[in-house]
Amino acid sequence: MADNIHPIYDRLVQRKEREAANGHRGGVVWLTGLSGSGKSTIAAAVERKLFERGVFAQVLDGDNVRNGLNGNLGFSLEDRKENTRRVAEVAKLFAHAGAIVLCSFVSPTRQMRAEVAEIVGSDDYFEVYVNTPLAVCEQRDVKGLYAKARAGELKNFTGIDSPYEAPVQPFLDLKTAELTVDQAAEQLIESLPL
Ligand code: ADP
Repeated sequence: MADNIHPIYDRLVQRKEREAANGHRGGVVWLTGLSGSGKSTIAAAVERKLFERGVFAQVLDGDNVRNGLNGNLGFSLEDRKENTRRVAEVAKLFAHAGAIVLCSFVSPTRQMRAEVAEIVGSDDYFEVYVNTPLAVCEQRDVKGLYAKARAGELKNFTGIDSPYEAPVQPFLDLKTAELTVDQAAEQLIESLPL
């Protein structure tokens, strides 16, 4: 029976109550950009600063998701889609629990990001374009992946032989080549409607 589907829902602690207790809203900050653009570095800096200010913040990135929840997924198109879908669903649960979730994923296509926004809900979705020129990312080459991709040892690498579609109207456009990590993190925090 339809009205028996969620029999305990109204007994659970409501999102509004959690947000009132925390003193801030929940939401999903989705950092998109090329490999090496600074997504993980900025997400970590923001998480630390928010934590120190008493905000319930949580990073979700390839490291804490690929190993566990998505450990059974590879890098085929289907698996990448499933990876993103699961991350979006987890981020939504965290946001409803009152957290500011900092998701750091290349998420190269507009369609992929639109699907995330759809799952999370547009009111809770804050897209941050970690806007760093390819040349700068390649020069940083944090994990040596650009060198490998240029040498043809790594196929379908975003920015080299696989496209990155820049966001058209991101919530925030972070030009990291003109900022320190600290400045980028502060700019992101100031933009949030906490
Ligand atoms: P991604 O998660 O996007 O692949 P990373 O955060 O792993 O990128 O790597 C970005 C690298 O760029 C780090 O070594 C970081 O210290 C460096 N970096 C230099 N300036 C900045 C900046 N303004 N913002 C973010 N990262 C920066």
